[in-house]
Amino acid sequence: MVVSLSDKSRLQPLRDGTPALATICSHSSLQIFHGARVEGFGSVGIAQGTPPRFYDAFPLAKPDKFLLVDRWENVHSIVPKLEESRAVIVPTGSFVEYVGPERFSALSVPVFGNRRVMEWESDREKERVWLERAGVPMPRKYRDASEVDGPVIVKYYGAKGGKGFILAKDRDELLESPIRKPHVIQEYIIGTRYYLHFFYSPISKEGYRVADGSLQLLGIDRRDEANIDELYKLGSQEGLLKSGLRPTFVVTGNVPVVLRESLLPQVFDIAGNIIETSIDLFGGMVGPFCVEGIMTEELEFKVFEISTRIVAGTNVYINGSPYSDLVAPGLSTGRRIAQELKRAAREDRLDEVLS
Ligand code: ATP
Repeated sequence: MVVSLSDKSRLQPLRDGTPALATICSHSSLQIFHGARVEGFGSVGIAQGTPPRFYDAFPLAKPDKFLLVDRWENVHSIVPKLEESRAVIVPTGSFVEYVGPERFSALSVPVFGNRRVMEWESDREKERVWLERAGVPMPRKYRDASEVDGPVIVKYYGAKGGKGFILAKDRDELLESPIRKPHVIQEYIIGTRYYLHFFYSPISKEGYRVADGSLQLLGIDRRDEANIDELYKLGSQEGLLKSGLRPTFVVTGNVPVVLRESLLPQVFDIAGNIIETSIDLFGGMVGPFCVEGIMTEELEFKVFEISTRIVAGTNVYINGSPYSDLVAPGLSTGRRIAQELKRAAREDRLDEVLS
């Protein structure tokens, strides 16, 4: 499905020798390199300038080798060396942020997952079409400030970790706020945030079946977001604004959480529908993805975002989570990626998990 027939020859070197998992030295690289090692793959760390020293502190997660670029724009310069290493790139948020979606999509090295997902995820309008078609409950979207009848969050395009988002408790406050264009005005959902780490295998026939494959829940986290998570300690919004303090959502870390067990069927339904719709829209999403939403007091999960690759919140479970331990002990998302690649190679189905 994912790799076209004419490209299949690109996968031959992966069948002939031991492939390496390659990723940028950031984000969730420790568990990706550790997972590669445990499953018998090589590992390649891609860095700018000099190899980062922090891997020396984590010998079980240090990549076998580093490939260096002088600037991220020149990432294509290491393609021959990646090919020599029989590398498969594991995309993370760092690829999008440092390398950029266009340059990343153009790399002629096999990538784990379907590259086409990027165009659907990186465009907020397209992402909404996808999720609405999947029947996923989402926060209401206002076409114009004049329609607003409750609290809202104003989001910018291509924002990094919610930087500069604006909160307004009603229309009047919104109209007084300094808003740039282009933006999206969304209903502000009051509830509890959950970031659910799913994994879809198009080749596994075991477990919770979705389409021709199967779906796993490997963990759930909540993001620590500066400074919104602690602002309440300083008092009301009005008072804060007078002191020049605006809420921000810059992610500084993650904490492990579990969901009330009776809510699991609801979130599995949502994730399953997202997968089935992705197959109709662009040939399917493969591997790790994160469904990010807010559980309301009516116990309805409203999804505000989907990340279509490994998320950094999985780092709280490098040695397994309360959910992944019930799939296989000590299973991280990084290791699960390596397992999928191993199985696909064994069954000669690499074209279904790589693009
Ligand atoms: P990232 O790329 O890090 O996922 P982003 O720029 O795509 O961030 P969102 O993930 O959409 O931004 O939102 C950032 C944060 O804003 C969320 O983690 C959540 O805390 C808050 N948030 C987003 N949408 C809503 C909403 N509709 N109601 C309440 N809070 C929201």
